Amino acid sequence: MPAGIRKEVQKLQGYQLEIPPHRVKLNQNESPRDLPDHLKKKVLGRIADLSWNRYPTPFCDPLRQRIAQKVGWYDDGVIVSAGSNILIQAVMIAASVNGKIMTVTPSFSLYEIEGLLLGNSVMEVPLSREDFSLPRDLFLKRLKKEKPNLVFLANPNAPTGNLFLEDDLVAVLETAKSLGALVVVDEAYYPFSGFTLFHHLRMFSNLVLVRTLSKAYSLGGARLGYLLADPKIAAEVIKVVLPFHVSQLTQAVGEVVLEEDAYVAPLVNEIIQEREVLYQSLKRIPGITVFPSHTNFLLFQTPRSKEIFQKLLEEGILIRDVSHHSLPNSLRVSVGTREENRLFLEVMGKASASFKDKH
Ligand code: PMP
Repeated sequence: MPAGIRKEVQKLQGYQLEIPPHRVKLNQNESPRDLPDHLKKKVLGRIADLSWNRYPTPFCDPLRQRIAQKVGWYDDGVIVSAGSNILIQAVMIAASVNGKIMTVTPSFSLYEIEGLLLGNSVMEVPLSREDFSLPRDLFLKRLKKEKPNLVFLANPNAPTGNLFLEDDLVAVLETAKSLGALVVVDEAYYPFSGFTLFHHLRMFSNLVLVRTLSKAYSLGGARLGYLLADPKIAAEVIKVVLPFHVSQLTQAVGEVVLEEDAYVAPLVNEIIQEREVLYQSLKRIPGITVFPSHTNFLLFQTPRSKEIFQKLLEEGILIRDVSHHSLPNSLRVSVGTREENRLFLEVMGKASASFKDKH
């Protein structure tokens, strides 16, 4: 045991991601399309004109204002960060260290990892087994009993892909409000669902929305995320966000894509259409259970998940094994381009036929 390291840190494995060699990458819910060339050129022009010897504004003020204008919220109710992961951690540091956090399982692994690293107990309420819906009564009961400092829900949820009912989320917000607890709703995938809790922000000062430009804006590599909350909450959370952590180069990327975001809607439409083709095709493969999705990925289950994952990898197609104690035999595939999806489906078809032949 290395001396000087907190026991919470030593006990945990940390975030795990293996990237073996591949030719088709469908494992991280990235956009299958790179940022359009004319926008890259515009960014390059802009960063060439910056003074690289100067620090950026500590908290990305120009970008905060631009996002605020775009979404119709207060400048000081927006926080910008290098990816939304940082905001998940920042809200935790501000709201719950050595406290209690409540979430659901299965969900995004970082809520648990960061929660434990900060000395919290993390309570995970199991989602319904059939359709991964929120077990409203059970969740509210646990909420009242445990009185956590903070609740985390991803909507749509990951890695299951489903949306929770607005009524259920509002019930969680109401109960949490009465207990003085914040509710973070992680909207990383909301552009693919067309649903947001944004219109509840005014009503619920305990609601914090977290979003990312990694998916719909094709900026996984640039690292930009933002948070929307009541300005009074944002003023507290920003105290724990490291100043200057978003470089002026990254901020320039954000400014350019927000000025010219016409590429986003057609891209999102394309991904939604491809997702539906992929869903219908997976549904027809015997031995596969695929779940409807409101995101840019699909979750499917098969007793042969390990073999299928391996078979795909042998053919150069990398997806994600998301099997977990609360989600057995489960694989997740990101929606790729039509050609990438076709290659994936071709191997899936061959793999399931060869398993059928063997038995
Ligand atoms: N929330 C969820 C639910 C996610 O799936 C992800 C990315 N996998 C993130 C947050 C983090 O996104 P970012 O790239 O903005 O850090």
